[in-house]
Amino acid sequence: MNRTLHVYKFGGASVKDAAALLNLHTLLQSRLQTNKLIVVSAMGKTTNALEAVLAKKLEQGDFSKEWKQIKDFHIGVCEELFPTAHPVIEKIEQLLDTAQPILDLPISKTNYDEVYDQLICYGELLSSLVVSEYLNFKGLSLAWQDARTVIHTDSDFRFAKIDWEKTRNACQNHWADLLEHQTILTQGFIGIDPLGRTTTLGREGSDFTAAILATSLDAESVTIWKDVPGVLNADPKLFPNTQKFEELRYREAAEMTYFGASVIHPKTIKPLANAGIPLFVKSFLDPEGAGTKIHEHAASHEVPTLVLKKSQVLVSFKVTDFTFIEEKHIHAIYEKLKELKLRANMLQLSAITVSLVVDTQLFKLEQLVESLKSSFEIRYNEDLELLTILKPKTAEIPALMEGYVVLLEQTTRTTYQAVRRKK
Ligand code: ASP
Ligand code: MG
Repeated sequence: MNRTLHVYKFGGASVKDAAALLNLHTLLQSRLQTNKLIVVSAMGKTTNALEAVLAKKLEQGDFSKEWKQIKDFHIGVCEELFPTAHPVIEKIEQLLDTAQPILDLPISKTNYDEVYDQLICYGELLSSLVVSEYLNFKGLSLAWQDARTVIHTDSDFRFAKIDWEKTRNACQNHWADLLEHQTILTQGFIGIDPLGRTTTLGREGSDFTAAILATSLDAESVTIWKDVPGVLNADPKLFPNTQKFEELRYREAAEMTYFGASVIHPKTIKPLANAGIPLFVKSFLDPEGAGTKIHEHAASHEVPTLVLKKSQVLVSFKVTDFTFIEEKHIHAIYEKLKELKLRANMLQLSAITVSLVVDTQLFKLEQLVESLKSSFEIRYNEDLELLTILKPKTAEIPALMEGYVVLLEQTTRTTYQAVRRKK
């Protein structure tokens, strides 16, 4: 049993350039006395860049420029960090060559999700290659491992679901012993389906990978290293005067992520809570700082938490046959949402209308409208934001809404939600 195992997850910002990797080395140097399991995501904005390649490919355009930028970026970082003779650049080139058959695949709406996963995984593959080469070059001995040897999923491309039993067995069989002797470095976000095809766990899914591995290997803790001092009560890029939580309960953290707080991936909390493994969120810029500890026994607090979700669509479904909204209408809409893997971020019912707020996703809105337009009169508004306030202080709400048009609003004792657009 690896009861002393600690899992570290480093996101894109912590490995975004040569300076970030220097910092990462310093951070790890004093922390690898005991073996760790390190999970890295793609460097900087690489996943977005790979999505741009796919977007070009989908419109039959020439994506060679976008592809070259990804290659040049990784090589550029390495040129700053390694001596000229180091084999890392050759390894990057070899790795990228293996993507050629995927780049050559025809792509359409029907196979988009599958091709997406086969290509998008290169962000994590490149990152883990560069990071492990660099840390080993600096004298930290780490074993690079392919996450696809242990993270087993179904074939639901882009949103793959974990096969927990298979994953746990694979972790125990392939990694548990290795971790007795060495630190492992692996990729977040990616897995493998029963047919051996790469899958991904949803954008920003590397946090979830860390939680999956921690529970499957009975780890002692998980630490997510970020560019913020811990979990704040709002995104400091969007709101002034944020406050850091010293500690939070699993349930509170899960709720924040449910409403769209991007500090931790929404699926991360549940497995850790079930296993009673504490989650630390710390700053890689201030590694000695206390960060935030998420666990079962955190003290309660009354600090309002603000979560803003952008790129939202408000869709309203109106019955057209002079009936009222009934269970069967809601059922039909929810069935379709499920099929499209969309979630209602907010829901409101009136006598003749169901209104709901969903994320903007390629092709999804048109499919939703198309399949339900025979039963409802459907209208939608795009480019909206959804503001959720947990433990709201009612008196503070009007000031937050200044300069916005509110399209839909809901208040309960513990939660305030508004869909809004800038005036
Ligand atoms: N690189 C992936 C993404 O950007 C996964 C992650 O960062 O956690 O979505
Ligand atoms: Mg990321």
